[in-house]
Amino acid sequence: MTVTEDAPLTDEQLRDRVVTWLRDNLPAPWVEAIDTGDDQLLARARPQVEFNEWCARLGEAGWATPTWPREYGGGGLEPGQARVVNEELSRYKVPRSFNVIGIGMGGPTIMQWGSEELKHRYLPPMAQHKEIWCQLFSEPGAGSDVAGLSTRAERDGDEWVVNGQKVWTTLAHVASFGMLVARTDPDAPKHKGLTYFVVDMHAPGVEVRPLKQMTGDAEFNEVFLTDVRIPDSHRLGPVGEGWAVATTTLMNERVALSGAGSSGGDNVGGGPVDALVAAAKAGGAWSDPVLRQRLVQAMIESRVLKITNFRSAAARKSGRPAGPEGSITKLFQAEHNQRLQNLAVDVLGSAALAWDQNSPVGGSVRGFLRSRANTIEGGTSEVMRNILGDRVLGLPREPDPSRNAPWKDIPRSS
Ligand SMILES: Cc1cc2nc3c(=O)[nH]c(=O)nc-3n(C[C@H](O)[C@H](O)[C@H](O)COP(=O)(O)OP(=O)(O)OC[C@H]3O[C@@H](n4cnc5c(N)ncnc54)[C@H](O)[C@@H]3O)c2cc1C
Repeated sequence: MTVTEDAPLTDEQLRDRVVTWLRDNLPAPWVEAIDTGDDQLLARARPQVEFNEWCARLGEAGWATPTWPREYGGGGLEPGQARVVNEELSRYKVPRSFNVIGIGMGGPTIMQWGSEELKHRYLPPMAQHKEIWCQLFSEPGAGSDVAGLSTRAERDGDEWVVNGQKVWTTLAHVASFGMLVARTDPDAPKHKGLTYFVVDMHAPGVEVRPLKQMTGDAEFNEVFLTDVRIPDSHRLGPVGEGWAVATTTLMNERVALSGAGSSGGDNVGGGPVDALVAAAKAGGAWSDPVLRQRLVQAMIESRVLKITNFRSAAARKSGRPAGPEGSITKLFQAEHNQRLQNLAVDVLGSAALAWDQNSPVGGSVRGFLRSRANTIEGGTSEVMRNILGDRVLGLPREPDPSRNAPWKDIPRSS
């Protein structure tokens, strides 16, 4: 059974269908653990599920990308219905693909700008966790002002030859494909001379060097591109229109990072706020009036985030693509999660020094450290505020003296 095989379902029918599929596909002890709330049984059942095989099965059934059209491996559901699906997947605590750059950003971009051939080739394996994707936008000399990037793509017959360096490229070390923005016309103003490509990360000339971060993980990388050849058929959108295509990716990135694409505000970052409240009650922190006030404030923020995400999903349901409201939730989610992580350290005390979120003492200094990135990744909070001032509040645009100058004449350090 897949997501829908027939006429539109009511929310309750859909919920039944998800639950039936989960109960048919999960090992029996897993289902029993959920039914009885037995976390120890669940921990014993987890090894019975092989991660890659499970993600593929979830994707093949359409549950990993419920709103994508069925012909591209999705579930063909409305955004509101996707929430029902995600609620049940969360309730059953099933593993989910980490291919979020593909599913959350690459997929919608290919859907909007790609040829039919590219859509059929790339979307199903992306949904099924069979091909991981990365985003090759930022460079050492271009982050917030990514339109100023220097990586060059030059036409050679039916191919493009790419040279340059990217940085901060999350998942590049495991990616099969990347979304690449490169400069094809240095004489044009910076936003006009860009073109967008799909690049094979295993092509000759692509070198990936992992960067270690303070959590000890190496989730992002430097990527060096030397004479990398990309067929013109792997271009998304017209030559010179790469900024418009990149904007589609960036709008969807903000939505993906705000939690709007998942089940909402309660499951973000270091775990549900409710779990922290329970820990505060068990450990005595709840009797401290200042901590209690901060906990209640965190609960309110998480509800506000959830409701704002519902609103933005409803707007998309009515046919509007992801718009600047993604910047509101991206900004709010990033700062809320940092406040929440700080609060968790204060509530848990020395237990917060435990490294693993699943440790018996319940802390997670790792989550605290990782949350520092929230206000940088996907556009910094300062940049989100600029976008909101400019596009939502209608304030005067930030001055940019280089905006209309040919890119090659703009002073740069590298
Ligand atoms: C965990 C993580 C994962 C990432 N993954 C990816 C990825 O997969 N792919 C990818 O392409 N990129 C990725 N990035 C890069 C990210 O998009 C950039 O770090 C971000 O856009 C900021 O760019 P920058 O680091 O060059 O900082 P800069 O742009 O140099 O900014 C430095 C400081 O100046 C401020 N600033 C800059 N311009 C303005 C302005 N106009 N007004 C006010 N303040 C300003 C910034 O807010 C910041 O505080 C990732 C970053 C992180 C932290």
